[in-house]
Amino acid sequence: MFSFIVQPTFPFEVVKVFVLLPFSPSVSEKAQGVARAIRKQTAEVQERWECLQDHAGGWQSQVEKAFERLQELQSNMDQLDLRLDRAEETKAGWQPVGDVLIDSLQEHIEKTTTFKEEMAPLRQDVHVVNELSGELAPLDVQLSSTSSRQLDDLNMRWKLLQVAIEERLKLLQEAHRDFGPSSQHFLSTSVQLPWQRAVSQNKVPYYINHQTQTTCWDHPKMTELYQSLADLNNVRFSAYRTAMKIRRLQKALCLDLLDLNVAQSTFEQHKLIQNAQLLTVPDVINCLTSIYDGLEQQHKDLVNVPLCVDMCLNWLLNVYDTGRSGKIRVLSMKIGLLSLSKGHLEEKYKYLFSQVASSGDKCDQRQLGLLLHDAIQIPRQLGEVAAFGGSNIEPSVRSCFQHVTNKVELEPRQFVDWMRLEPQSVVWLPVLHRVAAAETAKHQAKCNICKECPIVGFRYRSLKHFNYDVCQSCFFSGRTAKGHKLNYPMVEYCTPTTSGEDMRDFTKVLKNKFRSKKYFAKHPRLGYLPVQTVLNGDNMEIVSDFCIFLSLSLCVSPRTLQIEYEQLKEQHGGQRGPGSVGHWDPEGSSHPRGPDEADLLAEAKLLRQHKGHLEARMHILEEHNKQLESQLHRLRQLLHQHRHIHAYTESSDIQFLTQPQ
Ligand SMILES: [Zn+2]
Repeated sequence: MFSFIVQPTFPFEVVKVFVLLPFSPSVSEKAQGVARAIRKQTAEVQERWECLQDHAGGWQSQVEKAFERLQELQSNMDQLDLRLDRAEETKAGWQPVGDVLIDSLQEHIEKTTTFKEEMAPLRQDVHVVNELSGELAPLDVQLSSTSSRQLDDLNMRWKLLQVAIEERLKLLQEAHRDFGPSSQHFLSTSVQLPWQRAVSQNKVPYYINHQTQTTCWDHPKMTELYQSLADLNNVRFSAYRTAMKIRRLQKALCLDLLDLNVAQSTFEQHKLIQNAQLLTVPDVINCLTSIYDGLEQQHKDLVNVPLCVDMCLNWLLNVYDTGRSGKIRVLSMKIGLLSLSKGHLEEKYKYLFSQVASSGDKCDQRQLGLLLHDAIQIPRQLGEVAAFGGSNIEPSVRSCFQHVTNKVELEPRQFVDWMRLEPQSVVWLPVLHRVAAAETAKHQAKCNICKECPIVGFRYRSLKHFNYDVCQSCFFSGRTAKGHKLNYPMVEYCTPTTSGEDMRDFTKVLKNKFRSKKYFAKHPRLGYLPVQTVLNGDNMEIVSDFCIFLSLSLCVSPRTLQIEYEQLKEQHGGQRGPGSVGHWDPEGSSHPRGPDEADLLAEAKLLRQHKGHLEARMHILEEHNKQLESQLHRLRQLLHQHRHIHAYTESSDIQFLTQPQ
């Protein structure tokens, strides 16, 4: 218990009043004098007694008040002690932060935060105790040493408890930041020694090579991949070259395993709705982790989640955040991932379209521009943008809207129709799909140049010579044999041919047999731009190509030729079987479904009979063509003067690959 010290002042001197009274003359006088003195002293004593009583009464109440306060203080201190005991018990039960599982870090943070909130009222309790002890000082009451030690102890324990909570929360949050699900810690396994993955201030990863003591933005595997792409540079045609590079990239990132609709649902799951919204690197990692976790479940042996996430992040940053600001727009990530995912080509077009379309599933010029801009970044990153009209997407947007009657808004169907024409700026995308389809294709044919048999991959069949086939590597390197010229028409197959296609090609070869060498020299087969054009940036060559293109387009437009063409088409029964795409059709014909094969054979006989007849008509066609060419010569001169490159990109967008002969 407690004790206190009191120091009152009592007037005890009154006891000594009878000492040394003198003898006086008369007894009665003396007696009276004594009585007077006694009365006086009695009155004094009386007065002092009352004063003393008053004093004692005051003191009594003061002591009672102090006692009350002391009791209050004691009970408050006991309560606080109990609460602190309980809190310290909880604290003692805390698992060390280092032992907490990464997955339960968040849970621990929440628990600690709740605990902190629960402990908040203790602050008031401590305050009350300190106030009470403070009130004792004016009452001249000093706490006993035991009590004052207890009070100091309580204050100290409260402080320690607060510090411990704060410290734990900080440690947990740091651990969560560094190792939690949104941290990049799990990605550190994407590299092996001597490489180390590090993260810059804005969360962008970079890689340290401890052996060479160098750092770089690219993952070592990404660097390897880029180096390996160099061997594709001998592919003469830029669309193939780009598509083959992208195909290799797509496989390295395992995006060839990702379904379009899975990608789309992952975007929805991560609430990636606002296209203009900027994603931080952790946001991108979150989304990619969901994607690759899903892929890993289906392809355990193919997908290494940390490596894939890191590589894909690396690629997205290379394409859409070259300055490594650590931010990527939602739309860019979507376009990038959708472009490289697996699915039907036209489905992909629709998915891409829907990313930029407004609520009514329509798209204006600006929105289409956004889509094309983000799409063109993919070949741009591989240094292949020049072949696809440069990074200016405006001509492509105009070209697309030329096909729209409404001119203000584009519908998905119209976009797909335009994409079917394989516009120059995005031609790499359909070619990517063809490259993928051709990978496993085996053709029962022998390459006339390297003698590969069966031909694996793309097969190119001459439409000028019978039984003249070329494999893809010979075709891409521009090799020829048997007097076959590069400008002769050829047809590409990425899947084995059907007999319908064989028959159709046969008739085309027949027809081309009667065309002069001069014809082919004047009508060089236009296809993918050769590498030289891209590397040299030879504008003159581009312009002259455009002129040739114009001459070819116009030669079928006049009415007379159109009629001839229709007649010929009727006679040929122009067939085109399913399964083949992207050939250079000499007539730029539409693609009706072929009739039965028996019918085709019958028609082939008919065709042979009408050989002479056809020959005559061909001559007429060529005559018309010559006339048109002279007209076009003037136009060509004009173009040479102005070197109007824009006109080139705009118009050649439309039919850059599906040139008529
Ligand atoms: Zn070959």
